[in-house]
Amino acid sequence: MSKQIFSNFDTEMMEEAFLEAKKSFEKEEVPVGAVLVQDQKIIARAHNQMEELKDPSAHAEVLAIRSGAQALGDWRLLETTLYTTLEPCLMCAGALLLSRVGRVVWGAPDLRHGAHGSYINVFESRHPTHTLLIEGGLLKEKSATLMKEFFKIQRKRDEKVIGSPL
Ligand SMILES: [Zn+2]
Repeated sequence: MSKQIFSNFDTEMMEEAFLEAKKSFEKEEVPVGAVLVQDQKIIARAHNQMEELKDPSAHAEVLAIRSGAQALGDWRLLETTLYTTLEPCLMCAGALLLSRVGRVVWGAPDLRHGAHGSYINVFESRHPTHTLLIEGGLLKEKSATLMKEFFKIQRKRDEKVIGSPL
């Protein structure tokens, strides 16, 4: 992956997404957080709630998209940027394309499910109608460290838990 240059604002927003990831961590959920931004303002924030909601689609990105659409009163999230602490999976990549998010910035790579090159790259072919800009690796170490810490604790509790996706 080529080196990306992120703005101070991008870093600030990723720190906000990281605070969301910590909420998941505290609830013993896989720590992923996301914020959705429009006109330099956060319009939605969410964290992974798969266990809490017993919902395999309750990824931080999907929940932020849902909440952002409610906030805007429109399912089209035009001219928004989604910051997420983990590389989006296939499901989230699909939801991001369908909701017309303009830009996605992610933190750490997800070797198991990442849909921006780690597992598969659904963004490499140009979408016929929608251009989505996606960049990864912002505050990568910070998100990766939290993720590894989470899986270390989980593995101590349950040997069946597979290791960190990083
Ligand atoms: Zn996902």
